Amino acid sequence: MGNIFNTNSFITPIEFLKGVGPDRAVLLRKELEIFTFGDLIKYFPYRYIDRSKFYSIRDAVDANAFIQMKGNISKVQIVGLGRAKRLTALFTDETGSVELVWFNGIKWVEELLVHKEPFVVFGKVSIFNQKANITHPEIEVLSSFQNKANSGFRALYNTSDKMKTRGLDSKGMAKLIHALFIQLTEEQFYENLPQNLLENYRLWSRYLALKKIHFPDNIEDQQNAIRRLKFEELFLIQLGMIKNKLIRKKENGILFGPLAEKFNGFYNNFLPFNLTNAQKRVLKEIRKDTLSGSQMNRLLQGDVGSGKTIVALLSILMAIDSGFQALLMAPTEILAKQHFDDISKMMSFIGVKVAFLTGSVKGKARTEILHQLKEGEINLIIGTHALIEDTVQFLKLGLVVIDEQHRFGVAQRAKLWLKNELPPHVLVMTATPIPRTLAMTLYGDLDVSILDELPPGRKPITTIHKTEAHRLHVLGFMKEQIRLGRQIYIVYPLIVESEKMDMKNLMDGFEQISNTFPLPEYKICIVHGKMKPSEKEAEMDRFVRNETQIMVATTVIEVGVNVPNASVMIIENSERFGLSQLHQLRGRVGRGAEQSFCILMTGNKLTQEGKKRVKTMVETNDGFKISEVDLEIRGPGELQGTRQSGGLNLKIANLITDVKILEEARKAAFLLLEEDLLLEKPINFGLKRYLNAETNEKNNWGKIS
Ligand code: ADP
Ligand code: MG
Repeated sequence: MGNIFNTNSFITPIEFLKGVGPDRAVLLRKELEIFTFGDLIKYFPYRYIDRSKFYSIRDAVDANAFIQMKGNISKVQIVGLGRAKRLTALFTDETGSVELVWFNGIKWVEELLVHKEPFVVFGKVSIFNQKANITHPEIEVLSSFQNKANSGFRALYNTSDKMKTRGLDSKGMAKLIHALFIQLTEEQFYENLPQNLLENYRLWSRYLALKKIHFPDNIEDQQNAIRRLKFEELFLIQLGMIKNKLIRKKENGILFGPLAEKFNGFYNNFLPFNLTNAQKRVLKEIRKDTLSGSQMNRLLQGDVGSGKTIVALLSILMAIDSGFQALLMAPTEILAKQHFDDISKMMSFIGVKVAFLTGSVKGKARTEILHQLKEGEINLIIGTHALIEDTVQFLKLGLVVIDEQHRFGVAQRAKLWLKNELPPHVLVMTATPIPRTLAMTLYGDLDVSILDELPPGRKPITTIHKTEAHRLHVLGFMKEQIRLGRQIYIVYPLIVESEKMDMKNLMDGFEQISNTFPLPEYKICIVHGKMKPSEKEAEMDRFVRNETQIMVATTVIEVGVNVPNASVMIIENSERFGLSQLHQLRGRVGRGAEQSFCILMTGNKLTQEGKKRVKTMVETNDGFKISEVDLEIRGPGELQGTRQSGGLNLKIANLITDVKILEEARKAAFLLLEEDLLLEKPINFGLKRYLNAETNEKNNWGKIS
């Protein structure tokens, strides 16, 4: 055993590696962000190739590498049109078969496949639509095949053109990594996972895994190495989050009292409808948290329209009955105002004092509100991120509700915690369902409640895809709907890079609509981000009161806005929106008893991705399904503002394909912490040392969700 107080060799600057002079060091830093030994060791291969043997098709499916197989080819055919045109063929040996697909070089492949004899196929099997296939394999007639072997089982690395001119191609990188394994001893690869965990989950040691991920002798090596490293990555994230959560549950928090006058008075006399069972269940969960004696940190997930607001409101009444103030924060001025209008109306019946505070509340009015808050005269304050400011102080803040949380950064949220001596209970609500794996990873330290039931009587929204050629139809349809007494949203994209163009599109659209739907029969309004808050509000109000029938808008109306009589959502240039945004926009309709429609207008040419988004929207109303597809298309980094909140930055694990490992890792983390919450046992020493080193490197944002 080496001295445990050795400094960590992984942070040694890369120029201290044999074979890396100052020039190469600069390249490695600039091109690949490799600064240290550790960075180089964690520069994992992007692909493996195995020319050392022939695989059977049965084994090929799990190989996860570029490998060679021999067999016969049949069923050669050309399918699809345009860009989707492809040649497919069936490749078979004694153990099974797999589909081969070519999008390019179709003619060449077709000619080659005329030979009715065995072929050698080289490529990587992947699963697409639950079918095994190989895209663009290399093929050769077996009889003329010459094994390019000798290369055996090899890892390949991405490098840049610049690096290649200095000898740092894939091979060059492999050499450097090899040198590193010579320069470092095995002990210098500190094991961070406890021995019993390695045994229980049959995980390789850190040293072996890091070595074999770069230099595997065979598929098993490669797979064992990858599994260990994925497990480690996911386990450490889970451990950090669960640890925070368990510690928080041990610390003292605000204790709510029994339900009293306000809650009961409202619930028994003024609740406008019966709660759904899901709403009741979630309220019980919240009730239990706030009586537990420690701080609540709960994520409430519920699809658009599932009725999160009333859950929030009843929770707020629990706080008020217990003698506390509450805060409700929304991501936009419009939404905050709408919450304020709805809620203050309901609250006036039971004598709860509600106030509104955003950036646009100024001067004397603002001073007065701040004063009353501090004196405890205001029970509930509703507003935007202006509520985070230090000048906003409370007498006794007991509950913070954050609506549509993905608009807020984690650091912003954390500031709210500090507004009371004991941290207030926190309820975070989101309408964009997050896939379970992502929720476990991002919000592993929050308890999760799900509203999985829509209020009764809702008709599913019908979603239709139309192009410019159908414009007249769409206009006709709009007229018909207005005649039936409904209201319509038309939304235009607004992206900062081409703001001028977008603004012009919006204005052109507004003009076209105004010409098509002449006054006085139709009244049209427009809302966009460049308007003053008071103007926006006035337009929104008119629409809410059904004084205007058509609202032309940008995505400022994306979240939360609730106008049950609006039953048609037309999204222009919808190919320019992300999936979750489309789903959010669609959620603005379907809120009343009428059949609602969402019309996705697009150009004629769509990218593969654009097509998939539109198709998904047309096919399903289920926010969870949509979020899965979104995750698939965009990757977790793009979802839910994870970028701004510190990012997941997973190096090796994949949240879509590694669900099983994630679940194992989470369970393991729980079990470990149950036994040793503060990581004080000798067996967990490596883990503790590793986490301390990590915390020093980057600030631990997982703590403050
Ligand atoms: P979201 O979860 O998207 O925030 P809201 O809270 O805005 O949804 O609720 C959507 C609509 O459904 C509102 O008009 C609300 O009054 C209504 N609603 C909520 N819960 C119920 C219920 N249990 N029964 C009937 N209508 C309900
Ligand atoms: Mg809402």
